[in-house]
Amino acid sequence: MRVAVLGAGVVGIATAWELARDGHEVTVVDRRAEPASETSYANAGMIAPGHAYAWSSPKTLQTLFKALTRDDLALRFRFQTDPRFWRWALLFALQCTAEKAAANTRRKVGLCLYSQERLRGVLAETGIACAMRSGGALYLYRDAAGLAAADEKAKILRDGGVEVRRVSPEEAATLDPVYEPVKDRFAGALFAPGDESGDARLFTRELARVAAGKGVAFRMGETVVAFREAGDRIEAAVTDKGAVVADAFVLALGCYSAPIGRKLGLDLPIWPVKGYSVTLPLAGSNNPPTLPGVDEDNLFAFANYGDRVRLTAVAELGGWDWSHRPEDFAPMLKAAHELFPQAGDWSRPDYWAGLRPMTPTNLPIIGRGRQRNLWVNTGHGHMGWTWACGTARVTADLLAGRRPEWDPTGLEPKQG
Ligand SMILES: Cc1cc2nc3c(=O)[nH]c(=O)nc-3n(C[C@H](O)[C@H](O)[C@H](O)COP(=O)(O)OP(=O)(O)OC[C@H]3O[C@@H](n4cnc5c(N)ncnc54)[C@H](O)[C@@H]3O)c2cc1C
Repeated sequence: MRVAVLGAGVVGIATAWELARDGHEVTVVDRRAEPASETSYANAGMIAPGHAYAWSSPKTLQTLFKALTRDDLALRFRFQTDPRFWRWALLFALQCTAEKAAANTRRKVGLCLYSQERLRGVLAETGIACAMRSGGALYLYRDAAGLAAADEKAKILRDGGVEVRRVSPEEAATLDPVYEPVKDRFAGALFAPGDESGDARLFTRELARVAAGKGVAFRMGETVVAFREAGDRIEAAVTDKGAVVADAFVLALGCYSAPIGRKLGLDLPIWPVKGYSVTLPLAGSNNPPTLPGVDEDNLFAFANYGDRVRLTAVAELGGWDWSHRPEDFAPMLKAAHELFPQAGDWSRPDYWAGLRPMTPTNLPIIGRGRQRNLWVNTGHGHMGWTWACGTARVTADLLAGRRPEWDPTGLEPKQG
């Protein structure tokens, strides 16, 4: 079958790969010159079943109220006039009960574990090197009460099959010697031995290269602007450069799946939630964290890519705005500098901001669209790198009429 995958982020490329493995004739379409040029460009890189909690939770709702009047929190709010934002915000708020947060977290955990296994399979099959680091992640807590509460909260992850154990500051320093000089600042950490990190951009670009070698065609630099429909089918995706004719179409446009999906009669509740990352190069004398992790008191994540270290933070509820200013990074740089003074070359920060394609449940949208030959694989929020290979396989299975190994029931796109 001829399949057009719309979007060359980590989700689109992983989907194109799985479809090509199934023997389809695949064409990838993207407006950028290179894959992974938007949200998959410089994310934290964590593959983190040990941090799979739903962001829509009672605690987030409380923080959101504080964020209405403060600008220094990890959760930031920028006033929006777009009614679509308010509708999304209401749907998000409705997911913030303890019961819904628990149900969404359980589902996220299952998808994390399935996807991680699929990612390992893709890496083994293709031999792609993308600065993967296995060996666990550390989630750090400064006070004993916070650590005890986090340990209790992690029960839901353990019940889902994720190993998470509480470690003392000394054990944390044994796992990653970068903590030796600062260990008395911590009450301890949660250690998730199965968590990993890797460079999502490198993975996406390398997988695109391998896929091209296997015959996947790329139409880069083309913006999808419309569709040509015939009866209950899509005949072609229309770009600013021409038509892409195919037998089936996969919508994997990250945040932009929502506006483009509206052209296909879909109502995809995706809103961009901005995050910031800063990447520091490493020189010989640096002492960066070896294991990825999160400073839970300052809410920034970090990962080591061998020649670079990356710090990421902030969930900003704003609009479709990719801009960033040096001051957006100041709180994270300050906190990271205190923790890892030798982490990298602080004089050469590479700043970036990206838009997480967030749904109210924080679960992706997977399934058939209104037209018989339209498939949707989008809305991966803060876990698109972790989930890309899993939802790619699920989408390829659905398209082939097979029952996927991970059950996406309930995540289907809604009609507008
Ligand atoms: C700061 C930050 C930290 C993060 N950390 C992590 C992490 O540690 N672990 C994790 O698992 N996830 C993380 N994420 C989330 C992850 O990066 C995203 O979920 C993931 O990149 C989404 O991938 P995507 O392919 O859906 O979207 P994208 O990467 O945005 O890809 C969508 C593609 O569609 C193309 N496109 C859009 N509109 C059109 C159009 N009209 N025509 C043609 N092409 C179009 C774009 O050019 C783009 O290439 C993080 C995100 C941020 C912002």
